[in-house]
Amino acid sequence: MNCPKCSSNNIRKNGHRRGKQNYQCKDCGRQFINFYSHNGYPEKFKEECLTMYVNGNGFRAIERIKKVNRNTVIRWVREKGKQLPDSPEDYKIPQVAQLDELQTFVDKKK
Ligand SMILES: [Zn+2]
Repeated sequence: MNCPKCSSNNIRKNGHRRGKQNYQCKDCGRQFINFYSHNGYPEKFKEECLTMYVNGNGFRAIERIKKVNRNTVIRWVREKGKQLPDSPEDYKIPQVAQLDELQTFVDKKK
């Protein structure tokens, strides 16, 4: 679980509010209720959608395949954006490297 404001996972429990577990972020002080548990999507599902996005799928494609509203996915991407190590651009690099290796292999055979 991460802070909805700064995405930190430095979270502590902060009592209960209206019967729900309340949390507070130790980094920025933001208080919040465990929002992942009541939006209907487990963390794993969310990660799968974000992985699809990182691999170059559009929001419409994710919406169609995963049956999740694209605005929800856009929100997740914004929440997680800072944490993702790979941008879609980075994913093109290994493909180019493989093409170069293939070209070298073809040249050697000549
Ligand atoms: Zn925070």
